[in-house]
Amino acid sequence: ERIMSSFRYRPEILEGVPERLTQNLKQFEDWFVLDAAELKKITDHFVAELEKGLTKEGGNIGFLFNAIQPMNVTWVKSSPSGRELGRFLTLDMGGTNLRVCDVTLSEQKGDFEQTQRKFKLPQEVKSGTGEELWDFVADRLKDFLEENPTGAQDNTSVPLALTFSFPVDQKNIRSGILQRWTKKFEVSGVEGEDIVPQLEAALARKNIPVDVVALINDTTGTMIASHYRDPQIKIGSIFSTGTNAAYMEECRLVPKLEGYGLPEDAKVIINTEYGAFDNDRQILPFTPFDHQIDSESLRPGTQLYEKMVSGLYIGEMLRLVMVKLHEEGRLFQDKDITRLRESNVVDATFLSIAEIDTSEGLDDMRKEFEGLFNFSPAVDEMKVCRYLTGLIATRAARLYACGIAAICKRNNIRECHVGVDGSVFNKNSGFKDRASQGLRDILDWPVGEIDLIALNASEDGSGVGAALAASLALKEADQIKT
Ligand code: BGC
Ligand code: MG
Repeated sequence: ERIMSSFRYRPEILEGVPERLTQNLKQFEDWFVLDAAELKKITDHFVAELEKGLTKEGGNIGFLFNAIQPMNVTWVKSSPSGRELGRFLTLDMGGTNLRVCDVTLSEQKGDFEQTQRKFKLPQEVKSGTGEELWDFVADRLKDFLEENPTGAQDNTSVPLALTFSFPVDQKNIRSGILQRWTKKFEVSGVEGEDIVPQLEAALARKNIPVDVVALINDTTGTMIASHYRDPQIKIGSIFSTGTNAAYMEECRLVPKLEGYGLPEDAKVIINTEYGAFDNDRQILPFTPFDHQIDSESLRPGTQLYEKMVSGLYIGEMLRLVMVKLHEEGRLFQDKDITRLRESNVVDATFLSIAEIDTSEGLDDMRKEFEGLFNFSPAVDEMKVCRYLTGLIATRAARLYACGIAAICKRNNIRECHVGVDGSVFNKNSGFKDRASQGLRDILDWPVGEIDLIALNASEDGSGVGAALAASLALKEADQIKT
């Protein structure tokens, strides 16, 4: 009972809506509602897949579009002490923006200062050549440095950390071979290549005197930045354009690290890349909409879990569902839905606005509708859309919980904080509540008990998190030298 009432759509949204509009909504419930038993089954399979990625056979088949999630070794082997010092430049190449930061870690424990600038990554850069991409990155860094000079002499280099939110195979923290693009990036000449020399070549072309000392994933940055503030953090995760998580693992439990001669008690952050979970379609409850989203994507058969969960796809999911209801003669019958028929016109922001709008006439939602689709729906039609939004967002949040629960189960983590960054999680409070309920269902917590695994909003993985990673990398390089 408790479970049913907390994760299900709020039926009161449909109160007073005429039956001709609500009649065939049951089929969507069958598709999108996942009960506790289903979540548990998915989580158990997830645990086994995490395990597989750590084996020699599993995680090393890096460059094939294979079924196994990479479980990438990040070579970040310790947590910051809070006493790290120094000045660092950081670059963040995410799914949507390029962010440049100048971070100074100061004397005082856990204290820092930063200046930052964000640039939108233009579509042509996301689908051009590697050289164009890295030149764009170097040019923005140059712009930033002109506005915010580091004061360094020409001949001294400032250390720089790159946050790169894509799967890379790393032999050390200063390099990384791109395994595959995700999130609608399709830049030629980068897959299968080490991206650090590519970035360095662009920096040299533009005469920018910096030294790339660390390459990290956004989940790794989130993990480090969150842990810096809260030692109870054991997992860093992103719930945004894409979705993924990283956690600290004991090296002796990672078969693919055998032969590296690491100390018995060594630990390392693993970037799970679990967006690739279930690429072999063993367990996830794919609907016809999921199949369509995948087959129309740039890379069918990849990132299947991510395509059900993350912000890049849930808007499209809602659009497909609305079009289907139109075709069944339910929604927008007298409207010209040409715009609604265009792929990707709906993004995750639309879902947040729809869910937050509690006004009588759903005015904010109407404004969005008019802006996006060029028509004005009836209030009852919007109520149906809000209901559908709830189903899609709830499914995403509950599936998201499976990945976090799987990491906890595999590592016998009974209690911890999870640092979560990303627009989907942070802009729509519904996601946090629903994902937390998902965790409660999967992990069978008694009613009323406080959440033992708590999802906490985190920020700045690519600023202070990356700077700390750079500092740890420099310290380790120093220790090797002496
Ligand atoms: C990438 C991950 C990244 C995640 C969140 C995924 O598509 O493969 O490396 O952490 O998106 O940004
Ligand atoms: Mg990002």
